Amino acid sequence: MYDALTARYTFSCPERGEARVALSSFRRVEQLPGPSQPAVFEIEFGCGCGTEHPGLVSHDELDWAPLGLGGEARFVNLMTATVDPLDAELADLAARRIQAGQWPWSFFCYAEDRPRPMFPSAFVVLAPGGRGGEVGLAVRCPVCSSISVNLVSAQHLDVPFHNDREVGVVEQVFPADAERVVEEFAAELDSAGFDSRRLGLQ
Ligand SMILES: [Zn+2]
Ligand SMILES: [Zn+2]
Repeated sequence: MYDALTARYTFSCPERGEARVALSSFRRVEQLPGPSQPAVFEIEFGCGCGTEHPGLVSHDELDWAPLGLGGEARFVNLMTATVDPLDAELADLAARRIQAGQWPWSFFCYAEDRPRPMFPSAFVVLAPGGRGGEVGLAVRCPVCSSISVNLVSAQHLDVPFHNDREVGVVEQVFPADAERVVEEFAAELDSAGFDSRRLGLQ
């Protein structure tokens, strides 16, 4: 479902049969209620056919597959000792970078006034439309649970460990209620009320 070579997820499109999309094409991410292990997320993505479709993605695929740490690679490794070489290389590189204090994704938490490492499962709503091709996104901080809105490059989302030096931050704490966030978020993107913050995690 996630292809590390192209950094794309595959979902189905009623129009074209199949859609391959990067994280920056996601529009909403919501964890489904229930005890499933790993957790399952329902997403909506902007499709090449011009509309948005729903899709399902497991927690492993959402957060770990882009780092080569998907559940499947580990399974193959244990059972047969043969691993897709690309996955193994990616996973090794990712593990070393994380040990060295680099994070695959970081966003700015406005409530805490500091950058925080976050994974794609922290995404709430995303919207394209920045003048330079940026993506606005609402993220739920895993530490304080507050929702912040950042404006980042598509690469910041799609390429793990590629971090923008500065990101746009809306100077507002958003309500935890997801539907209101969507409304306020759309309004903020139009008003371009972003302030820039450095992302260095030191
Ligand atoms: Zn489509
Ligand atoms: Zn926070």
